Amino acid sequence: MYAKTHMIAGGIVGYLISPTWVGVLGGAVSSLLSDIDEPKSFIGRKTLLLSVPLNWSIEHRTVTHSLLFAFVSAFIFFAVTVLTPLYMLGYVILGGIISHIVGDMLTGRVMLFWPMKKKIGIKMPFWIYRIVDMLIRLGLIYLVIHQLVFGNVFKNLLSNSIL
Ligand SMILES: [Zn+2]
Repeated sequence: MYAKTHMIAGGIVGYLISPTWVGVLGGAVSSLLSDIDEPKSFIGRKTLLLSVPLNWSIEHRTVTHSLLFAFVSAFIFFAVTVLTPLYMLGYVILGGIISHIVGDMLTGRVMLFWPMKKKIGIKMPFWIYRIVDMLIRLGLIYLVIHQLVFGNVFKNLLSNSIL
């Protein structure tokens, strides 16, 4: 899936876990983490010192697209922030990473249970991938606009504290 689609999905998941601006932002940003294994990805281009050696050592959509990566990342965040109010964001990070993995499984295959080598997901040619990604993105944008206009999302974001 493309970074924009991941970010919208991650922002929605972040909001569902923590209906705050930090929840939305945390979900959107953490939804990009998995593609750190690909130097050509949005986040990979910005972290070449990390993404290039990672890409040499591991295949794309393997370790960083696994449940283990999601839980270990969240655990590290919990451990570092345990004494601060940021602690709760660990759940947002977990949700953001899992939203990325699910998104990639809808448009391709990932090693969900790494270190098991089996790849899981819907494999498709690139031109179908682009159409599916666009349809999912448009659907998510519609959902966000609908909820902003007719739901309580905007009110919640304004009234809830920052965390
Ligand atoms: Zn990915």
